[in-house]
Amino acid sequence: MPEELVIGASVLGRELVAIRFDPPDYARARPPALIFGGIHGDEAASVLQCERLATELVERPPGRVTWIVPCVNPDGVAAGTKNNARDVDLNRHFAAANWVADHKPGYFPGHAPETEPEVQALVALIERTGVQRLVALHATFRCVNWDGAGRALAEEMARLSGYEVNEDIGYPTPGSFGSKYGVDRGLEVVTVEVPYLEIDERAWTETRAALRFSLDLPT
Ligand SMILES: [Zn+2]
Repeated sequence: MPEELVIGASVLGRELVAIRFDPPDYARARPPALIFGGIHGDEAASVLQCERLATELVERPPGRVTWIVPCVNPDGVAAGTKNNARDVDLNRHFAAANWVADHKPGYFPGHAPETEPEVQALVALIERTGVQRLVALHATFRCVNWDGAGRALAEEMARLSGYEVNEDIGYPTPGSFGSKYGVDRGLEVVTVEVPYLEIDERAWTETRAALRFSLDLPT
């Protein structure tokens, strides 16, 4: 059964939870993966998709060690706001080489990178577990982007879900998760914009195959 760990607490004291799933004993050794949702609090669909995937992984384990952090920004989800409780856009808040203090309104990256506990907890988990395949779930555009070494994985995930695939979202994202772990570190980073899960009947069938592929198949 999966192991649930509290990896930190949000600004307002909500638990940040990570769930570890182990592959069956016969699975080939593959680099461990991380999937997370809810870094933007107004994208709760991404949290539900992580929870749905976690439910499925109990029944059928992944093909590699997999960490799921269903909700990186629980204060934002509770309030229905994109940013965290200190109004920081957590996806502009990573210590990437391209982090900048100057952003348009609504994209406050913090006064310095990685001061917010939600991002600190995620960063510490990545360092500690050595995950190399990183899948970030956002909502709700139905598209796939990649950074760093994520291209081949993104293309296959896009094919399986029927979504468009692009190298970037079409505008600069300094201090983003993909900038730090994809561009700077060269890891496999894929961002999936997932549709509403409970409202849209097709949502889980579209993303399910893509998410399973990212955990079960090559390298
Ligand atoms: Zn987002």
